[in-house]
Amino acid sequence: MARRRLIAGNWKMNGGLSDSRALARAVCDGLDDAPSCDVLICPPFPLLGAISEMLAGPKVRVGAQDCHPADAGAHTGDVSAVLLAELGCSAVIVGHSERRADHGEGNALVRDKAAAAHRAGLTAIVCVGETLDERDGGRTAEVVVGQVDGSLPDGWSAENTVIAYEPVWAIGTGRTPEIGDIAAVHGEIRYALGVRSSEAVAEASRILYGGSVKAGNAADIMAIDQVDGALVGGASLDANEFLAIIAAA
Ligand code: PEP
Repeated sequence: MARRRLIAGNWKMNGGLSDSRALARAVCDGLDDAPSCDVLICPPFPLLGAISEMLAGPKVRVGAQDCHPADAGAHTGDVSAVLLAELGCSAVIVGHSERRADHGEGNALVRDKAAAAHRAGLTAIVCVGETLDERDGGRTAEVVVGQVDGSLPDGWSAENTVIAYEPVWAIGTGRTPEIGDIAAVHGEIRYALGVRSSEAVAEASRILYGGSVKAGNAADIMAIDQVDGALVGGASLDANEFLAIIAAA
């Protein structure tokens, strides 16, 4: 069964209310009524309600950039997956390397966040990726497979979970791995998913590439058999650039 591609835009901590609304509108209006891939935008928390109300419909879905592992409680400044679902989100990114680095998030916490996402009915987009030192040390597969193993909760499935392979050194730098290297790491991830579940689940699972995806390199990256879409940071802040990536998917 062919895997439906997903192009997800991670807006990070960018945008105010009116320019974000305009960006979401431009992405939505620039798409066919039935795009050939799934399209997701992930604005900052405070904009989620406004943007999901504005988009209401399946053409462009809305996701969040993080969630807390608990469903509710005394966790000042955090946001639950339950609330994200109520605000109209269909997915949440967990374990992004910026959160792993800036907030010291490890695999166990990422796994608990993914479990919270699943309880709330959200797709967990679980990010993994090696640093430049780890790559230079020949440890890419070991690190990435370790993150996959440590970050997937019990109950994960090809339907409720997407893996995003994002080499840390490629994020926001304009640098990307060689096509063959992306294919090889995606193959390692798919193999690891098969070991954890079954070949059928691994084959049905979507594995995105992320790290300096742009209109100019999207077609080459999407042509890789093992790549099922992209998690896009900087280029998702420009509607035309993001639409061109979607068109390449
Ligand atoms: C990201 O942060 O998930 C990302 C892939 O960023 P960029 O596309 O800017 O490298």
